[in-house]
Amino acid sequence: MQNIVTRLRGAREQIAKAERRCDRAPGEVTLLAISKSQPITALQAAIDAGQFLFGENYVQEALPKIEALHHPKLQWHFVGDIQRNKAKLIAQHFHWVHSITRASVAEALNKHRSPEQGPLNVCIQINISDESSKAGIALAELPVLAHAIAALPHLTLRGLMAIPAPNFDEKTQREIFHHIAQALAQLQKLGLACDTLSMGMSHDFEAAIAEGATIVRIGQAIFGPRSG
Ligand SMILES: *Cc1c(COP(=O)(O)O)cnc(C)c1O
Repeated sequence: MQNIVTRLRGAREQIAKAERRCDRAPGEVTLLAISKSQPITALQAAIDAGQFLFGENYVQEALPKIEALHHPKLQWHFVGDIQRNKAKLIAQHFHWVHSITRASVAEALNKHRSPEQGPLNVCIQINISDESSKAGIALAELPVLAHAIAALPHLTLRGLMAIPAPNFDEKTQREIFHHIAQALAQLQKLGLACDTLSMGMSHDFEAAIAEGATIVRIGQAIFGPRSG
């Protein structure tokens, strides 16, 4: 577990360096630790090292972790594909959802979010680079979905999420992230108060920070290679 502490510190330092290099304010970029396939002990080690934001891809895997781990600062982000029949559990147990691609799913999350919890923070997942993956909507569909979500009282539309295909060089990574940042600016021009660009993973977070990422989602660079 010492490795996790060391890698976590390394990732934070690289983020801080990238912020300085790109004239971003210190602390402007939030580190979301993606803990899919990691055991509770690994998350606990990260919590002990001051990491409180975790991202999970599967509801069934996340729930035991959410139940077992306790810290007042803990925040759970859902970043995986959303099945309609899981919307209730996601709305009840998570603080953020990064991966909305359909109005019907947004409506289901809205319906199951209890007002006492406060609004669920959500991002729309965009796909502009990875034809092999069906996750994410085309940019042309964005305004309609964004307005539909903005009308839901128990959701707060925070911005956009993207997972570019993994095999690009840095120039191409930056072009894709630049596109996503422009799409966020478009939403802001439409009067939507969005502030979040969830983009950048272990292999491309520096390019994402250069193009305006506010949340980077990092798994393997913190927890080590995934076995499964
Ligand atoms: C797994 C995953 C990540 C983290 O990927 P790493 O390569 O481990 O950094 C980020 N975002 C999403 C949506 C993921 O599924």
